[in-house]
Amino acid sequence: MSRCLRDVAKLQKIIKNVQFEGCTVGFVPTMGALHEGHLAIVRQSKKENDFTVVSVYVNSRQFNNEEDFRKYPRTEEQDIKALKNEGVDVIYFPRTRALFSQEFMPLKFSLDGLDKRLEGASRPGHFQGVIEVVHALFLHVMPTRAYFGQKDFQQVLIVQKMISKLKLKVELVQVPTVRARNGLALSSRNSRLTLEQKEEALVLVRILRFVKEGYSKVPLSQLLTQAKAQMKGTALVLDYLDIVDKTTLIPLTSKQPQAVACIAAFCGEVRLIDNMLLIAE
Ligand code: AMP
Repeated sequence: MSRCLRDVAKLQKIIKNVQFEGCTVGFVPTMGALHEGHLAIVRQSKKENDFTVVSVYVNSRQFNNEEDFRKYPRTEEQDIKALKNEGVDVIYFPRTRALFSQEFMPLKFSLDGLDKRLEGASRPGHFQGVIEVVHALFLHVMPTRAYFGQKDFQQVLIVQKMISKLKLKVELVQVPTVRARNGLALSSRNSRLTLEQKEEALVLVRILRFVKEGYSKVPLSQLLTQAKAQMKGTALVLDYLDIVDKTTLIPLTSKQPQAVACIAAFCGEVRLIDNMLLIAE
């Protein structure tokens, strides 16, 4: 039976008992407004662990835009229903004062530039907010494994960097992006798009597929120019499209056997991101 908890002491009592029994704990941090992408991660955690905790917390610290935070979809009742349906052991709604107590010290260590590129360049302070909340949640949940979606590719690298730098005893598991049948990457923010905008937003995945297709055949700069040209005439406004090294996120100057294409664009006032792995044939 699923339990909903808000109290960190109660959560930790349960987790300690579970760990005392020698069981593994899988952890899925989310900001709620759950969709099939989140649920795929939950299912993987359930498959790979004896006990699964899902947290739901909209972290104001990782929003660099007040309006975006205010308008972020919040669907608590539906989320609880969906998670109970999946048989999640604990649904955790942490309290802000428990995550960031008065003694809370901002984490200060280098992310080796990962936080400065792509999303970091467009959303200053975003990743500092991410690592602070993920670190605080790890202290609460004490998981064996933590699950993150490839949809937020840069976030995966940054959380992995934090785990290595702080020598945390948690294994990060990356889960592939779940897409709608038409290819649009599922995202909580999609619920803020009109039906027409959802159609328009397909240009993101179309561009990524174009880049993937051309990666082995077309010179890099030409490929990027042709890909960006596909944005013209659409209602979307491109923030960035880059082909980057998949471990450092530095834009490629020459082709590598593997890379990742990352894109961000505004559809109306909603900012969407997506990415795709590229493999040279
Ligand atoms: P969020 O609630 O947006 O913070 O996302 C919680 C987790 O779900 C993060 O690890 C995301 O990367 C992951 N996630 C979000 N959308 C998808 C998707 N379409 N496919 C797979 N994972 C996703």
